[in-house]
Amino acid sequence: MGLRKILTVKEPALHKICKSVENFDERLHKLLDDMRETLIDSGGVGLAAPQVGILRRVVLVDNGEEILELVNPELIMTDGDQSGPEGCLSIPGKYGLVKRPYYAKIRAQDRNGNWYEAEGEEIVARCFCHELDHLDGIVYTEVMERYLTDEELAAD
Ligand code: ZN
Repeated sequence: MGLRKILTVKEPALHKICKSVENFDERLHKLLDDMRETLIDSGGVGLAAPQVGILRRVVLVDNGEEILELVNPELIMTDGDQSGPEGCLSIPGKYGLVKRPYYAKIRAQDRNGNWYEAEGEEIVARCFCHELDHLDGIVYTEVMERYLTDEELAAD
């Protein structure tokens, strides 16, 4: 186990398309364990591998009950929409107004390569979309309507 350094948007790794995971080996398990520790330490709800400098399609999402390990995740269904504040561990201290689906269902592989499905509403759906975007080199500032002001944030 070990904490990994979270890169900021200035780093090229945040803007690259990540490769699929093909080997479900000890190296992947170590990455997932380190990402879990890093996510918990950061207090965030999601973390994508490129944020720790690994250009592979690996994401963690805290759905409020457990931290889901999503390997090679794909969005398979969305419904509705929501517009709300969104932040990113790679853009500390800022929040943007971002429109996302209200509901999202994904499929992904677990750390052993078994496919499963997961779904969520509100913040969980937002987090799925935000983290999957990272795997294609997209940060929320590229899809947001605008940054939120300090006054707007204080009102929440
Ligand atoms: Zn992010």
